[in-house]
Amino acid sequence: MLNIVLFGPPGAGKGTQSKKLVNEYNLVHLSTGDLLRSEIKEGTELGLRAKVLMDEGRLVPDEVVIGMIRNKLNANPNAEGFIFDGFPRTEKQAEALDNLLTEVNESITRMIALEVEDAELVERLLERGKDSGRADDQDENVVKNRLKVYQDETAILKNYYQSQSKFTSINGFGSIDEVFERLSNSIRAAKEV
Ligand code: AMP
Repeated sequence: MLNIVLFGPPGAGKGTQSKKLVNEYNLVHLSTGDLLRSEIKEGTELGLRAKVLMDEGRLVPDEVVIGMIRNKLNANPNAEGFIFDGFPRTEKQAEALDNLLTEVNESITRMIALEVEDAELVERLLERGKDSGRADDQDENVVKNRLKVYQDETAILKNYYQSQSKFTSINGFGSIDEVFERLSNSIRAAKEV
């Protein structure tokens, strides 16, 4: 299996690139942000509770997102691999993901981080907010809070994967196709190991 953690701050292009990778490598795309937004759309209790945190740019509890990922892994037993997008975001989530994969004799192949400067991220997110309908993309304070949460709580996961020799960092600045080319090169290299 090819299991990729596509990592990076909000606005780095994880969602866009995941869609292209899914087509290229026949993977299942698991985005906890997308899963949470569909809970909100369906008006579930989980969605209602998550929305309050998401609208402020804060993380939802680990147990909630870990449970969602567990369900999706179980629901796709024949997948050729997964792209994890926006998950894990904390060390607890990273450990839980390793454990869930170990249970089925699998593991993360590579964590690939898209690096983009903060000023560019703010611009991209506010631009996306004009038609994404996402409240958390429309308010500059919320956008900045999401970037702060990423720096404070999530970026440290690079060390987690580095210590497993699974970390690759790539430049996320450039056209969608340019970034995709860099990503594909990293994945090709990871598959050869
Ligand atoms: P995203 O679509 O990945 O930018 O996520 C949007 C929002 O959903 C985040 O700002 C968090 O509030 C929440 N969220 C998504 N994924 C996670 C996660 N792995 N852990 C905690 N909160 C998450």
